[in-house]
Amino acid sequence: MTNEAWGKLREDLIKRVGRNNYTTWIEPIRLAELQGSVARFEVPTSFFGDWVSRNFSDHILHQLNASGQDVSRVEFFVPQVSQPRAVRAAASAPAKPAPRLSRRAANDEELPGATLDARFTFDSFVVGKPNELAHAAARRVAEGGPVTFNPLFLYGGVGLGKTHLMHAIAHELQVRQPDLRVLYLSAEQFMYRFVQALRDKQIMDFKEIFRSVDVLMVDDVQFIAGKDSTQEEFFHTFNALVDQNKQIIISADRAPGEIKDLEDRIKSRLQCGLVVDLHPTDYELRLGILQQKAETYRQQYPGLQIAPGVLDFLAHRITTNVRVLEGALTRLFAFASLVGREITLELAQDCLADILRASDRKLTIEEIQRKVAEHYNIRLSDMIGPKRLRNIARPRQVAMYLAKQLTPRSLPEIGRRFGGRDHTTIMHGVKKIEELMATDSQLNDDLNLLKRLLQG
Ligand code: ADP
Ligand code: MG
Repeated sequence: MTNEAWGKLREDLIKRVGRNNYTTWIEPIRLAELQGSVARFEVPTSFFGDWVSRNFSDHILHQLNASGQDVSRVEFFVPQVSQPRAVRAAASAPAKPAPRLSRRAANDEELPGATLDARFTFDSFVVGKPNELAHAAARRVAEGGPVTFNPLFLYGGVGLGKTHLMHAIAHELQVRQPDLRVLYLSAEQFMYRFVQALRDKQIMDFKEIFRSVDVLMVDDVQFIAGKDSTQEEFFHTFNALVDQNKQIIISADRAPGEIKDLEDRIKSRLQCGLVVDLHPTDYELRLGILQQKAETYRQQYPGLQIAPGVLDFLAHRITTNVRVLEGALTRLFAFASLVGREITLELAQDCLADILRASDRKLTIEEIQRKVAEHYNIRLSDMIGPKRLRNIARPRQVAMYLAKQLTPRSLPEIGRRFGGRDHTTIMHGVKKIEELMATDSQLNDDLNLLKRLLQG
């Protein structure tokens, strides 16, 4: 196989790796030889070769084999300096000539960033109360105007959209300012590149690359906690960029001050800009996300019906995080299309039984007793003690009622946790509350409040 044949073949990789990666990493490499089952490619630098090898060699291998070549390994090498550059240029497929040779363009090719997910855009990000501030800040940074807060620090629990927002910023910046050098990577990748650069004695290259970007985004920065030399390097990179007034965007699973084993000077640096958190989703946001996702699935599976109330049900029941929510919907659509049935509540309950079970919050009787005691201002020990005074007996019955309502425990089990009371005592307590509810509006208010607190 010749390099020219490869030149045609490789275009199919656009679909697999995306246009951006293709131009940056695939186009510049040249098939030098194919001997036996080994394909050898020329790359401009060893750094470049490493990156392609790590991220794209499987794709390249697949592509070669798909074309009928029996290749089991791909290798990358930097040609000897003595080899005249002009010859290589002439030998390669009719390429775009000039721009790639400029220093800036050449440098771009070596940005060791991670692949951006094409789906993570602002368009596909649903905004609600819990994330509106983070979203607004991300939008602002994505406008690419003068740097007003540095860094932008986004934090929140897993699956709440941190990575999505960061990718969205990168996409938007690339559209608005194609020349801007935007580097997105995880803290883990940062550490990995750093260690590798140390090992290969390329630390100057490493520093130069990281300090020459216009926008640096580091995802999941909590990862470098406790990794001292990586922290040190990160700190210097960070300072160098801030000094040049370059935008930095950081994410973590918690606030800067709460990251253990992170040096204080780094913590305080991270707090210097704008720190915003993504709150746990609320029902409206979850429903919004489900509706948007369902819309794209309807296009993907035309003819598939979804019964009213299903999305609502999922938004109520799956409260953990957006990733789980999305996974549930994906499975539901795939399953329904497989069996050719409408998506009904029953189908959802069947098909998602494990997810639904896992996201049921496991509320304990002890939690209920504690909250109720707190609410009525009595001692926790009185919940299980023998006192019969009304101002203690009534709250105890409220707790019994809630334990029956909100947990799957049986009456005898509940009885045991109320100081070994008989199940008939529990039944009596539950009945008493039910009776009172018909007339006592204060009690109803109390119950509603307690339920809300407990089910959070
Ligand atoms: P994090 O990085 O905070 O752990 P991600 O950004 O990876 O979370 O989000 C997890 C999944 O949930 C992704 O598929 C993402 O697209 C989706 N997601 C999270 N928040 C939203 C949102 N507000 N709108 C649409 N999709 C969202
Ligand atoms: Mg993430």
